[in-house]
Amino acid sequence: MHTELCHADDASIRRAAALLRAGELVAFPTETVYGLGADALNGGAAARIFAAKGRPADNPLIAHIAGESDLSGLIAGEPVPCARALMRAFWPGPMTLIFPKSARVPREVTAGLDTVAVRMPSHPVARALISAAQTPIAAPSANRSGRPSPTTAAHVLEDMDGRIPLILDGGPCEVGLESTVVDVTGARPRILRPGGVTREMLEGVVGAVDVDEGVLHQLQAGSQARSPGMKYKHYAPRGEMTIVTGPRAAQEIARLYDAAGGRAAILAFSQADYGARRVYRLKNAPGELFAVLRQLDEDGVETIYAEDVPTNGVGLAVMNRLMRAAAFRVHNAE
Ligand code: AMP
Ligand code: MG
Repeated sequence: MHTELCHADDASIRRAAALLRAGELVAFPTETVYGLGADALNGGAAARIFAAKGRPADNPLIAHIAGESDLSGLIAGEPVPCARALMRAFWPGPMTLIFPKSARVPREVTAGLDTVAVRMPSHPVARALISAAQTPIAAPSANRSGRPSPTTAAHVLEDMDGRIPLILDGGPCEVGLESTVVDVTGARPRILRPGGVTREMLEGVVGAVDVDEGVLHQLQAGSQARSPGMKYKHYAPRGEMTIVTGPRAAQEIARLYDAAGGRAAILAFSQADYGARRVYRLKNAPGELFAVLRQLDEDGVETIYAEDVPTNGVGLAVMNRLMRAAAFRVHNAE
């Protein structure tokens, strides 16, 4: 299949919408990362997403809507008061809510769960596409499964060339990390995946919010993942990454780098001085993280020593992605 990369103008958005209505896949920009979309009410179309990504069948998709009127067809019953408050505060934007699902949502979208994830994106191209398609769009990130999420159309092409008919290019994504996934089906809202909307922002609206165990810790073998995506190795560069923590982290990173010989690199969030060593320094960690992880691959880096980041604010989301990129390898330098 030939993959066309198109500037996202009115004509290409109309073409993309027609492809979606015909059950095809289209990649499109959102404010978080690029999504790989299919008609969320067409099970066969949603199944194509799993094939194109090489995504495990038990990892559900997020349904994207353009307006609140699209919500009632996807969920069972009415949103509970705390869901309403969060929607009012953060939609459109980088927050996904988990609701009990309606019978109309095909099982391919929810991977057999009795809940459905819904988000209203703020990106004008995403909104125009959903409106033109006149159906909610199921979309995970538009990367091959296991790879860092794409924050530019060029990243999508790297992973999806020959697998989908069309990529809408809307420039680089503003947030650069996936949405915050919040489960509102229990007694208290629970963050299943941290993202652009921080815990502090959520708590400012609804009071105390729980953070799921799986956000910063490896799930025990056999334990039930509340957010199925959390159990997979994810966001990973090809090189082996280790996160170095503790008060002597910078000295230890320098020592490990020297011991590794020529092919290592340092992923730095601080201003620590590593001399002439090869450092990838992130000034805007959430926005640049995935692009830098891809760059490490392109540069053939085999061993990566990463600093950690404080887990307040958007740092929780950065650390969540970093822990998965490192397959939970953490080295503490006391
Ligand atoms: P992606 O957009 O590729 O990051 O994938 C969507 C993420 O949303 C997955 O990792 C899932 O874990 C999460 N998700 C989707 N639907 C549900 C659901 N019904 N319950 C919990 N998590 C969900
Ligand atoms: Mg993803």
